Amino acid sequence: MTARSVPASCEVLVVGAGPAGSACAQMLARAGFDAVLCDQHDFPRDKVCGDGLIPDAHRALARLGVLDDVLAHARSARHVGCIAPHGARVEVPARLAVLPRRELDDIVRRSALAAGARWLAPARFDAPLLDAGGRVAGATLRLADGSLHDLRARWTVLATGAAAVPLIAAGVCVRRAPSGFALRGYVRNEAMAARITGLEVVWHRALRSGYGWIFPCGAGMFNVGVGITHGQDQDRGQAARPELNLRELFAAFTRLHAPARELLQGGTQLGALKGAPLRCSLEGARWSRPGLLVAGEAAGSTYLFTGEGIGKALETGMLAAEALVEGGEDAAVRSRYEAALAALKPRFAAYAQANRINEHPWMADLVIWRARRSAHIVGRLAGVLEETHNPGKLVSPRGLARLILPLG
Ligand SMILES: Cc1cc2nc3c(=O)[nH]c(=O)nc-3n(C[C@H](O)[C@H](O)[C@H](O)COP(=O)(O)OP(=O)(O)OC[C@H]3O[C@@H](n4cnc5c(N)ncnc54)[C@H](O)[C@@H]3O)c2cc1C
Repeated sequence: MTARSVPASCEVLVVGAGPAGSACAQMLARAGFDAVLCDQHDFPRDKVCGDGLIPDAHRALARLGVLDDVLAHARSARHVGCIAPHGARVEVPARLAVLPRRELDDIVRRSALAAGARWLAPARFDAPLLDAGGRVAGATLRLADGSLHDLRARWTVLATGAAAVPLIAAGVCVRRAPSGFALRGYVRNEAMAARITGLEVVWHRALRSGYGWIFPCGAGMFNVGVGITHGQDQDRGQAARPELNLRELFAAFTRLHAPARELLQGGTQLGALKGAPLRCSLEGARWSRPGLLVAGEAAGSTYLFTGEGIGKALETGMLAAEALVEGGEDAAVRSRYEAALAALKPRFAAYAQANRINEHPWMADLVIWRARRSAHIVGRLAGVLEETHNPGKLVSPRGLARLILPLG
């Protein structure tokens, strides 16, 4: 894109073309808004992720009208195998799919452009533009040739993911440290394709504070990774655990979990292992300031327990668009959006409570041991994935007591 073809103004500037930003831009464009969607990278681009799509992502993608397209490219699965530290395993049924983010994000982004959003990349958000009253009135963007360009907008949506730098530049960062980190690699091993057909999630003492996963992407390719999350005490505690530790965890995971070991030993690793931060529990940033809404993982929209965030990023992007489409004064738009996020907060709190399983892997032993003997508990686990069952209740003192007591 040349400097001359860069737009000077628009109604809404959406910064970041991950799930949150593209969902927001699509909804705005569909409602007739002049929206510019920009990203620091040209697309398609890679994004460090497990690439797993759980039911909330299916629902959000359906609302955006792209689910069929996504599923046509994705590897679908009907269950996730939950594996306890002592090796017990239970299959939890769910609507699941795996699609590398390079493809997924481009499908959602293209749907925004097809709806009428304008595309600007590479264009990195450098700083907000402020009007005389201090209201955000667009952004200064750094273009590919290094030049700075002011793009005026009535509203700006910041959907820049888990990086702290844009949040700080936008004046909305409350906590610089992320809620956790995760690392993944791709492995090709065609011989294992028939053996690992569902998603696998593994808890183990050696992976304490997190878990390991194997997600089949199709055509003999697997996304293998480990993640760790911290409670709510990041700034006081262990937030700055470096990526180095994750590499050690990854090595431990691929030693202790036989399928992961076999995948790597008999397969070919595609590209380097890559890590990235997670921002969870709708914490760590202000959700808005005059002229600006914060959506997706920038607003902490990833679940602490599972590290799953694609579905909620899509949802919060759509909520931001809905608040803007309804219109009105600045304060009305912001309070509508903040109320919508606040309504999601109890769910995030439940997933934060369930994070106790990651912190105390023996709980996974207990839950999975009981689930193997009870279709009712398997149903509750499926309900956690479908978001019809509160995961916090499973690990509350009462929930644990009920697991220990014989079931009716
Ligand atoms: C290793 C790992 C595994 C994960 N596995 C899963 C999983 O299996 N399933 C799941 O649901 N979730 C998973 N997550 C979480 C998921 O990746 C995030 O929740 C999701 O990507 C958030 O979407 P988003 O649109 O908010 O941000 P992002 O997807 O991060 O998109 C942000 C976009 O903003 C752009 N950007 C950033 N800064 C700037 C800037 N200054 N200017 C312009 N553009 C900018 C970026 O280039 C990017 O395109 C995982 C995360 C990690 C790290």
